[in-house]
Amino acid sequence: MVVPYKHEPFTDFSIEENRRALESAIKQVEAELGKTYPLIIGGERIMTDDKIEVVNPADKKEVIGYVAKANQDLAEKAHRIADETFSWWRKTKASFRADILFRAAAIVRRRKHEFTAHLVKEGGKPWKEADADTAEAIDFMEFYARQMLDIDKGVEINSRPIENNRFHYIPLGVGVVISPWNFLFAIMCGTTTAAMVSGNTVLLKPASSTPIIAYKMMEVLEEAGLPAGVINYIPGSGKEVGDYLVDHPRTRFISFTGSREVGTRIFERAAKVHEGQKWLKRTIIEMGGKDTIIVDKDSDLELAADAITYSAFGFSGQKCSACSRVVAHEAVYDELLDRVVQKTKNEVSHGNPADNRSYMGPVIDQGAYDKILNYIEIGKKEGKLMAGGKGDDSKGWFIEPTVFADLDPDSTIMQEEIFGPVLGFMKASSFDEALEIANNTDYGLTGAVITNNRQHIEKAREDFHVGNLYFNRGCTAAIVGYHPFGGFNMSGTDSKAGGPDYLYHHMQGKTTSEML
Ligand code: NAP
Repeated sequence: MVVPYKHEPFTDFSIEENRRALESAIKQVEAELGKTYPLIIGGERIMTDDKIEVVNPADKKEVIGYVAKANQDLAEKAHRIADETFSWWRKTKASFRADILFRAAAIVRRRKHEFTAHLVKEGGKPWKEADADTAEAIDFMEFYARQMLDIDKGVEINSRPIENNRFHYIPLGVGVVISPWNFLFAIMCGTTTAAMVSGNTVLLKPASSTPIIAYKMMEVLEEAGLPAGVINYIPGSGKEVGDYLVDHPRTRFISFTGSREVGTRIFERAAKVHEGQKWLKRTIIEMGGKDTIIVDKDSDLELAADAITYSAFGFSGQKCSACSRVVAHEAVYDELLDRVVQKTKNEVSHGNPADNRSYMGPVIDQGAYDKILNYIEIGKKEGKLMAGGKGDDSKGWFIEPTVFADLDPDSTIMQEEIFGPVLGFMKASSFDEALEIANNTDYGLTGAVITNNRQHIEKAREDFHVGNLYFNRGCTAAIVGYHPFGGFNMSGTDSKAGGPDYLYHHMQGKTTSEML
């Protein structure tokens, strides 16, 4: 009997013992910097001449490691092995697959600070954010293992007296899992292990800026008993191996998390039936957001200011769920703006994430840095700069937490996903207008409403069209199994990671009927 699921608690770094434990784990990770990591195809370690150099975004000169880079030939080899492995892996017992995840979760839990320290370095995550990323990876493994055991119990269907009918779910085949760099451990681990535990074999292509954590997860899964060939680790250029794997006629499904640009490209390419292809490919696609917090006339403004500040600037706004828009009722607009600006200036310390006191670290790379600063220049023309606005890329890619006021709902800053520490304020004259503005983007991922008005809560519940809507709290920090996560419209294909039906996206229902 498996104990009921409960999410992994976060580490309290105000306790000295915990602080010391992470400090020492960071030193341990620093001692291992600069190592070289191979591909893993069918259990075989394969080194390539061409390598990805992975650097610490807080300190560009610090090389975290070098990772072998798959080309199309190696991707083909991995695909063939995944396909061969699927022929027997699909028949393994659900409990066998789930047990691998239970054991893997236990291994990560025992070495939690080591993983968290690695995320601080590879992802530039402040302690709190890195700790939450590790906890979420553990949660995904624990949650999906249990969900698979439940699915395995089967579903009751009707039989007539002359027949015996059964219905059960079977896996799909070879899945291509393509993950982003922002939740470098949690999302990569969740999407990969969901595909695996439901009986599929996997080609895992992590983001090129953060591929090492995926190698470390592979080591854990192997230690937990994962057979060779079930998950094949093939980092490489998204353009080169990504397109190749998506187009491959033996690819059965693609699980992607990342930008709208790449997500829509995958969706379109996956729709094409190639020679030798016997199915229509399934896609599970999670993309960006332009997430809004509405602050009502009758609301707790201190709660609102805290929720907005953390949702906007936690991990430098590099969360798909990050708050990038505030729509405040005109009666509270000025006071709220002032509180958020004061908090941004006085409480959002930004600096080296390896320092426990940093609230906000760097952004991920030069491309992101340039793009965000370009948006800040646009913001200066479209609105009023209230805080921040500058960057410094001399050591790492640091950008000040930035607030713009008095924006137009249709302005670029209010419509496009910036994916950085940039927050825009807009005024609404009524709650209905605030809702209208909140819904006026192409996205529909997260949102929050800060209000004491019960009617307005109910109205938003019906009319605020986002996959994850929160009341009287911020719009980030979804927890596996508690806040199933995923968005509407251009935010994705409506699947919910960490939700009750997530694994079904990786499976198909089969009916058998025997005449008696
Ligand atoms: P990205 O640039 O789209 O990259 C995501 C992944 O796609 C990477 O592994 C990338 O590989 C790969 N890729 C690039 N081109 C490809 C192609 N042509 N075919 C197949 N794969 C390709 O996104 P990102 O910058 O890593 O992540 C940030 C985005 O993710 C934001 O928009 C954010 O909102 C979104 N996100 C959404 C969710 C959600 O649950 N909805 C969660 C987290 C993040 P390379 O690294 O090699 O280019």
